[in-house]
Amino acid sequence: MAQFKNFINGEWVDAQSGEEFERRNPATGELIGTFPKSGPADVEAAVAAAREAFKHWRLYPAPKRGEILYRVGQLLKERKEELAREMTEEMGKVLTEARGDVQEGIDMAFYMAGEGRRMWGQTTPSELPNKWNMSVRKPLGVVGLITPWNFPLAIPTWKIMPALIAGNTVVFKPASYTPRMAVRLVEIFEEAGLPAGVLNLVIGTGESVGDAILHHPDVALISFTGSTDTGTHVAVEAARQGKRVSLELGGKNAIIVMDDADIDLAVDGILWSAFGTSGQRCTAASRIIAHRAIQDTLVEKLVARASRMRLGDGLKETTDVGPVVSASQLERIHAYVQIGREEGAELVVGGNIARDGELARGHFHEPTIFNNVKPTMRIAQEEIFGPVTAVIPVDSLDEAIEVANGVQYGLSASIYTRDINKAFRAMQDIDTGILYVNAGTIGAEIHLPFGGTKGTGNGHREAGQAALDVFTEWQSIYVDYSGRLQRAQID
Ligand code: NAD
Repeated sequence: MAQFKNFINGEWVDAQSGEEFERRNPATGELIGTFPKSGPADVEAAVAAAREAFKHWRLYPAPKRGEILYRVGQLLKERKEELAREMTEEMGKVLTEARGDVQEGIDMAFYMAGEGRRMWGQTTPSELPNKWNMSVRKPLGVVGLITPWNFPLAIPTWKIMPALIAGNTVVFKPASYTPRMAVRLVEIFEEAGLPAGVLNLVIGTGESVGDAILHHPDVALISFTGSTDTGTHVAVEAARQGKRVSLELGGKNAIIVMDDADIDLAVDGILWSAFGTSGQRCTAASRIIAHRAIQDTLVEKLVARASRMRLGDGLKETTDVGPVVSASQLERIHAYVQIGREEGAELVVGGNIARDGELARGHFHEPTIFNNVKPTMRIAQEEIFGPVTAVIPVDSLDEAIEVANGVQYGLSASIYTRDINKAFRAMQDIDTGILYVNAGTIGAEIHLPFGGTKGTGNGHREAGQAALDVFTEWQSIYVDYSGRLQRAQID
């Protein structure tokens, strides 16, 4: 049986308590391995190692840090297929999507490696003679990275790569559903030659390990991706301690389909965005805002296609929709189907937990669509995080935009239209961090800012150049070479 460990100060070690937990394949119930059930003592050791390593890592030339990231990118590329298979086994997403998840990690490694030779600051003229002004980026110190399970490789790389290139050292706590992928990623950093203590992995629950990282006085920043409830707790605790905090939280993303849209193109985008990763993406389309003129045609086509989607083990080529991550997640999703029914929404396809044959071994939910949903219903307001979507009819573009904006989240949105004026109105008036025109709500590229407005975040962005703003502090430097006292704003 595979037994996995924490990685602290360059060593693979058990939890100090000696306790372990199991993770099982959500499609088959087979055991993936056992993992350390760590606690505050393990976090203490990891933070101490990271604090010590920071003394050297911050001075390690950034282009050389970049070379290590390039090697990580290369190793990820070489192992893409085996990593993708392991990811599908551990959290269920179908193999093609797991390959995409690894590819995001590869892209982020190469992109951030390049930052080692850029990381631009500014130089400006001075208002005084013989004086030099510039700003440079500085690392924060030890950063705590807390990640969810739905992108078990991509999301950790979105945090680890920018943190390291900027000269921070890391304590990384992955989600308890996907600890093996975290181990694989950290093994690759070790193999690429990252010095001991720079990246530390502590596996365990949020309450025990996550909270200990959050409360540790030597952790300067928490970068957190996960649910809004946990994120709010993180924000409150971080504020009490004056810690920097970056949050990427939930979504309730909408696809608008206008009366002039290419309906078949919209159907492809909706199915991909609503049921890809079994709806367990922060950018999943869980609302379809349909112009009444095309609602019936759209729903008919969606139902026909969704009812043919094949559930199964994501490793099988024939599978369209894999399992959801756990039994409790399955129950939660199914409870929302009941809520939708009770609220009076019209269930047009799916709606059941799938238990036929081999599916009984795992956690499968049928792709589910509700029609004639009112914007105020809970299924149109709350994040479900499963293969369930809600069609909301509207009569105009103005109403569509109002409905799209009428939720507490602001991550991703999309509009299908062939009218450029409508597309630009959507770009201007939809309040989300990500917006697509004639494409679904998912599929962000790593070199643009990623994140959301309103309840989805706290104003920060991941990926692209924006990630550097999270993981660095600006230092403005003034060099006076006049040889006399010069007083800004006075002389
Ligand atoms: P979660 O909030 O349950 O867990 C996220 C992480 O926080 C896990 O590592 C967990 O162990 C840890 N955690 C739990 N309690 C904690 C505590 N008290 N202190 C510190 N850490 C704690 O979320 P999840 O179920 O893993 O992920 C799904 C959620 O993530 C969804 O809401 C989804 O929308 C969101 N998500 C957002 C983005 C984005 O970029 N906006 C991306 C992916 C997922």
